Amino acid sequence: MGRVVGVVGGGQLARMMIAPAVELGVELRVLAEEPGMAAALAASDVGDYRDAETVLAFARGVDVVTFDHEHVPHDVLRAVLAEGIPVHPGPDALQYAQDKLLMRAKLAELGMPQPEWSAVRDAAELQAFIDEHGGRAVVKTARGGYDGKGVRVVSAGTEADDWFATIAEFGEGADGHGGALLAEELVPFTRELAQQVARRPGGEVVSWPIVETVQRDGVCAEVIAPAPHASERLLEVAARLGVDIATGLGVTGMLAVELFETSDERILVNELAMRPHNSGHWTQDGAVTSQFEQHLRAVLDLPLGDPSPREEWSVMVNILGGPAEGTLEDRFAAAMAAHPSVKIHTYGKAPRPGRKVGHINASGDDLDDVAYQARAATAFFQ
Ligand code: ADP
Repeated sequence: MGRVVGVVGGGQLARMMIAPAVELGVELRVLAEEPGMAAALAASDVGDYRDAETVLAFARGVDVVTFDHEHVPHDVLRAVLAEGIPVHPGPDALQYAQDKLLMRAKLAELGMPQPEWSAVRDAAELQAFIDEHGGRAVVKTARGGYDGKGVRVVSAGTEADDWFATIAEFGEGADGHGGALLAEELVPFTRELAQQVARRPGGEVVSWPIVETVQRDGVCAEVIAPAPHASERLLEVAARLGVDIATGLGVTGMLAVELFETSDERILVNELAMRPHNSGHWTQDGAVTSQFEQHLRAVLDLPLGDPSPREEWSVMVNILGGPAEGTLEDRFAAAMAAHPSVKIHTYGKAPRPGRKVGHINASGDDLDDVAYQARAATAFFQ
């Protein structure tokens, strides 16, 4: 096909686009933050994604720009668009994944189910929100959070004073909400779910089945696909929600909608990711079309692939931290010998406590066995 996709960001998500790009005959180029990153194999450029000239120089050599993360500033993306180079997802959609306050306001406008929320500008406003919501609340920084950083459960308005001080220091946000924090009701959820969809610029959308995500210490530890005990109604409601959000926000490429499920089977939107997402790593081995292949197809405006599962159940377990001694490679042979049915994915990253350095996928028709295989194989890498 001879087309060139440029990915800004050199992490594992860019790395996992490399194999499907090779298969599709698409050239993948990566603007990595530094040499030797996870996507080093395809890293044609190294530079600062916040610098317009750096990103423009990279973008001029590709047919479409996409991302491994959501942190590229709005004005940098506008500069790329101004040169006629397509950006997917575009800045108008991406802002809702970059700023949780903008996302909450937009989802409210679209009538999407979400936790009760408010923008709070100081400790008194936060205290008032806490008082109205049973004495506790979740407070979040609007921007820059990931893996639970920038999220805090509080029971007093003063417990976010450090964040309010930071906001005061950096001044009014350019995005119109005046540098506020986001306060949310503490949702008594029974589990966390994620719905993924892919959307082409022309509007074609496909959805994978909803999955259950298990978090430990604010980090995704495991994903079960599809979510166990999901009723037909839940599958339908979640898929419709994903499609409506992708369409309503004009998302192009992959969208992950992180959800809370409540005891009365309601689902509430927690947050959005507009790129391949940890909740979709199971699709590499468990679905007809993986999220990484689909993302490339979508951003190139090619027909989308079938998202159906290949097997009844898939389980993905993250390798977090890695071995205390030695390298991941040391463990391969033992894990492979003990669990020949699993698929081992590593990111070429040095092990560090809590860091995602790889994951293991297993699929089959017996959920207990599939989960056992994935967990037991992962244990070889700890
Ligand atoms: P991040 O951007 O760091 O991933 P999230 O907004 O997804 O942050 O929150 C991280 C975790 O905190 C969630 O996965 C969930 O477990 C918990 N959490 C977030 N918001 C709420 C809420 N309103 N009620 C209860 N738990 C929450």
